[in-house]
Amino acid sequence: MTNGPSATTRAARTYLARGWAPILVEARGKRPLLSRWPESRLGEGDLENFEGRNVGLLLGSASEGLVDVDCDWPEAAELARELLPSTALVHGRPSSPHCHWWYRAPGARTAVFRVEPVFTRKTTIVELRGAGAQTVVPPSVHPSGETLRWERWGEPATVDCAELKTAVARLAIAAVLVVRGWRAEDATSIVRCPAAVVERSVERDLLPLAPIRAWLGLEQETSMQRPECSARSTGGQLVLGRASPLTEAVLLRLGGVLGAANLLGLSLHEGRQPCPFHEGQGGRSFQVTGHAWRCWAGCGQGNAIHLAATALGKTYREARDQLAGELHLLSRNHPPLARR
Ligand SMILES: [Zn+2]
Repeated sequence: MTNGPSATTRAARTYLARGWAPILVEARGKRPLLSRWPESRLGEGDLENFEGRNVGLLLGSASEGLVDVDCDWPEAAELARELLPSTALVHGRPSSPHCHWWYRAPGARTAVFRVEPVFTRKTTIVELRGAGAQTVVPPSVHPSGETLRWERWGEPATVDCAELKTAVARLAIAAVLVVRGWRAEDATSIVRCPAAVVERSVERDLLPLAPIRAWLGLEQETSMQRPECSARSTGGQLVLGRASPLTEAVLLRLGGVLGAANLLGLSLHEGRQPCPFHEGQGGRSFQVTGHAWRCWAGCGQGNAIHLAATALGKTYREARDQLAGELHLLSRNHPPLARR
């Protein structure tokens, strides 16, 4: 499928024909356009509205149990072929191939696997997206400007939701191991044996145990009813190589990217907006999502401390130390941080 004026309209028609529920999404973005999009069920008569816009798919029962495994980290996308069940429906984009794996897994709930926001990379490693969520699909245009494309356009494999969730958890852990310097073969083989991961973790302080046990279903979840996947396990946060107490204290006090922006005298808000580092009014390259930010044009990304480092032209550590001093001094009415 090529991108063109009617490409998303044609795609939406195809999705409808396959029994899936397409939804309207902002052009070159990920935000659904209808406020009640989770309940929206568009039909043939709505197709012309897709003209020039992006198209998303409602997940879960609205689309015959369709779910999407979204590999945010490139390491996860690379390992997916080894660790996720095979399926004939996969999409990606040129700079991020095969990063979305599609299945039919009735009853699957969304589960997000992430690390603490103290690294320059995205906090979300991989996400199992199910009922109540939506995913932007080809031939939509990604915020980066790239056009999404189907790399496999066949039937999504039908899988058990509990098994799929376990596979995604293993993928998340393997991706973390690869980031920590493991060979992909070693990472994929150890996560196939949860007991080995736990044993190694105890032995070598490999990864923190609590989230790993929960992710691999070694405790709590085992006592819950698995058939309908009702266990309230929605992924969780993995503390990757502990941040220093000072970093943690600074991030806690800042309470997110907007806290840092406030201190820095940057006028930012949640969502898409002009990048304060490279563009003027009307720009849309910059994105704030709670504890994380990113400039899609390449100015940078990260947590609140990375924002300060970028704004001040300092290293992460220098910015953190300056913020720490400032947060302490603020109670004595010192002026906000001066930009260099
Ligand atoms: Zn920028």
